[in-house]
Amino acid sequence: MILTNYHMHSSFSDGTAFPEEYVLIAIEKGFKSIGFSEHGPTPFNKHWELPENKVDEYFAEINRLKDKYKDKIEIYIGMELDYYTGLEENSFSKYDLDYVIGSIHYFPDKEGNIFGIDCKPEDFHRTIHEFFKGDVKAFVKEFCDRIIDMVDKFKPDIIGHFDLIKINNFNEMYFSESDPRYREEIMRVFRFISDKGTMLDVNTGGITRGFMTVPYPSPWALKEAAKLKIPVVLNSDAHRPEHIDGKFENVSKILKECGYTEKMIIKDGNWVPVPI
Ligand SMILES: [Zn+2]
Ligand SMILES: [Zn+2]
Repeated sequence: MILTNYHMHSSFSDGTAFPEEYVLIAIEKGFKSIGFSEHGPTPFNKHWELPENKVDEYFAEINRLKDKYKDKIEIYIGMELDYYTGLEENSFSKYDLDYVIGSIHYFPDKEGNIFGIDCKPEDFHRTIHEFFKGDVKAFVKEFCDRIIDMVDKFKPDIIGHFDLIKINNFNEMYFSESDPRYREEIMRVFRFISDKGTMLDVNTGGITRGFMTVPYPSPWALKEAAKLKIPVVLNSDAHRPEHIDGKFENVSKILKECGYTEKMIIKDGNWVPVPI
């Protein structure tokens, strides 16, 4: 399998190491191409994102590495950008990025308070009970509506961790993934994106970090996505260099079992399919 990873966070956002440490481990492991996807600037989170005043430095450093290691590996500059209602229209095209991962990590309210999804269980509980007044169906529907809206208006190359809403759904305490109503919501998004070329981030981060046994998206959903020929990118959402290929073998196997034979990689600046 050709090794690549386009979902990685360095110390420019909430990762633990400098970008060069990711590059060195990628070369050592035989990766063909990689991309950095720092959390882009937003008006809300000041602790886990790349601040606006560091964007130039980010570009300069990744460009320096691109050049320094150009004979060994292809390096790309991306960002994982947050989508939320009220986002300025040019937000996803504001920077001259090689690619954009569009993700929904939280719902901000009118006062700018953040109601998290990718957060501690007690904060997730607050999101369900305060923002959605305990209505889990409304939560799932709103999340799916926002993905559709994001793809429609902002056209990210990749949808980040597609079913992140399951992150705190331990023992299916909020919803069952086999509930036909839940599946229909997910299918509604798949049908919408199926002719758009938008890629799914098949994200091993939750398994690598030990709080999940399946990737994003779940295998049942990947089977459906495969039928609709929705392209996938295998990524580890690494926040530390040693996670660069976290669980790639297991999840490649899952992808094949779900009907996928190809994944997308960037080669000479273009997204192309290659065998898994
Ligand atoms: Zn994310
Ligand atoms: Zn990420």
